[in-house]
Amino acid sequence: MPDLIDPFGRAITYLRVSVTDRCDLRCVYCMAEDMSFLPKADILSLEELDRLCAAFIRLGTSKIRLTGGEPLVRRGLMSLVGSLGARLGHGGLRELTLTTNGTRLSHFAGELAAVGVRRVNVSLDTLDPTKFAAITRWGRIGKTLDGIFAARAAGLAVKINMVAMKGVNEDEIDAMLAWCGEHGLDLCLIETMPLGEIDDDRAEQYLPLSLVRARLRKRWTLRETDYRTGGPARYVTVAETGRRLGFITPMTHNFCESCNRVRLTCTGTLYMCLGQDDSADFRRVLRAGASEAELDAAIVAAIARKPKGHDFIIDRQHQRPALARHMSVTGG
Ligand code: SAM
Repeated sequence: MPDLIDPFGRAITYLRVSVTDRCDLRCVYCMAEDMSFLPKADILSLEELDRLCAAFIRLGTSKIRLTGGEPLVRRGLMSLVGSLGARLGHGGLRELTLTTNGTRLSHFAGELAAVGVRRVNVSLDTLDPTKFAAITRWGRIGKTLDGIFAARAAGLAVKINMVAMKGVNEDEIDAMLAWCGEHGLDLCLIETMPLGEIDDDRAEQYLPLSLVRARLRKRWTLRETDYRTGGPARYVTVAETGRRLGFITPMTHNFCESCNRVRLTCTGTLYMCLGQDDSADFRRVLRAGASEAELDAAIVAAIARKPKGHDFIIDRQHQRPALARHMSVTGG
């Protein structure tokens, strides 16, 4: 039995760790163009992150996802990945994975595979190079595509994360599904969430996936499946391609009832819910010289405060974001 059970009886077995708030892209739904990033002293060292992860694993965490910002821009990250990789198996960690924009994946794919990473999520909202540059503000699609193919060549399973945006990439979802089928990739569609001030209007961007699903059904045979990866996505199998298609629907279908996750930021702040402000400060605990037992007790106490869920709303009456912090801080 896992040791971390929240007040609503949910076992907390999945830790998402944002290893940096920095990113080499500025996706329009994620960040403002002009972001200020954290000073180095505020950020946990890789050793501190490793110690916290080890404590979570001790308390029953079986899945860790490294994210950001862009995890692969954090200098020395592979030492953390290697150390966590060594904790795979033996009744400890069952899965170590990563969410990345792919720009540096061609460089790191082999190393990731070598330390035990089996799957990565790569964000790719469009296959059109001009649109890619516009969504990411300055990215070049070639680097991300090279990263995806390098990951496949290294034996990693790749799932594409595509944020569905009204009037931006909604006409490309069919093409993306076909392209993923051709290249042996799963696809996961995500509804845009109201996290952090951005330069664009979220009500303009928001596209409910219930609508997308109904449209896709006209062209594709979507077979229900109970396949789960331990995350929030709900999957169907696309009969024509044999690949999976996931839907992450925080807006149209609140996914909190089965939440098994908490999120640690690069400053050591633990958010018990993506969509609420309550948090626990583990940098203070670590830097006050806590013993392993004290660290474990602080984690157990934080989980005891996990809220039931979030209630995101995007409409014209709610012009402010539901939360001030960006997804790049909490870790997507
Ligand atoms: N840099 C990495 C990447 O691009 O995948 C990891 C961090 S990024 C914040 C993780 C995921 O969150 C990406 O798939 C991104 O598209 C998604 N994301 C960012 N802001 C979002 C928002 N406001 N609503 C929904 N998804 C968002």
